[in-house]
Amino acid sequence: MRTIVIIPTLSDNYTYLIENGSEAVVVDPGEARPVLRRLERTGASLVAVVCTHGHFDHTAGNEELVRETDCLLYLPRDLSDGDAASTDMELSARSYGPFKMILIPTPGHSKDSVCYYLAPAEDAPGAVFTGDTLFVGGCGRLFTHSPSVMWQSLQRLLTLPPETLVYCGHDYALENYEFALDIEPDNGAVKRRLEEMRAVADVSGNSVPSTMEIERATNPFLRAAEPEMKRVLGMPDASDAEVFAELRRRKDRF
Ligand SMILES: [Zn+2]
Repeated sequence: MRTIVIIPTLSDNYTYLIENGSEAVVVDPGEARPVLRRLERTGASLVAVVCTHGHFDHTAGNEELVRETDCLLYLPRDLSDGDAASTDMELSARSYGPFKMILIPTPGHSKDSVCYYLAPAEDAPGAVFTGDTLFVGGCGRLFTHSPSVMWQSLQRLLTLPPETLVYCGHDYALENYEFALDIEPDNGAVKRRLEEMRAVADVSGNSVPSTMEIERATNPFLRAAEPEMKRVLGMPDASDAEVFAELRRRKDRF
């Protein structure tokens, strides 16, 4: 049976171990030790390390894991500005042991940001690993690209089936929903999500996984195209990308 184990690393990073019988793949190992401990316990062998982007807190465990387990390492490459501006970037599939992952190019947070979509299996729903591109209730800061490139990246994620589980790179859910509610104080769905996340935080649980359906309904950054979002921002005639840019600006100052 395929399972996804959540391994909190560093101060607020999430590392994930996808397991199936005797094989496992790790996503974004901010640290190696907790991953190695889990592998020792289960006896599974690590097939590959895959990273959503090259930032230190998502890759710091790579070297030790490769040295200790002799696994494959996949780091995405930088996308040129020309690539990043193109709306029809190619999705590519890769297989790591029993796991088939679709690579979704999502530049914006960094030049090399990608998300990995793990298609549904007989015994498990589909899942997407979004790194610092899409968070529960939010999105990553824009370090390398314009808001319109990031908006295109997020739209690629919006094509995933609604039941897709979302596993992101950091636990920022509380502050994200506080921001969302600041933008839309009367949004009942956002209010309920914030309460849910507070309850989760009280028992020091994990805010992941979310689903694409939840994110589509309550993540303000995914709702930049909605007339209601444009209305509350006082931008009824603005383009979707302009509305997204304004949300990102406000969040940066929040
Ligand atoms: Zn990052």
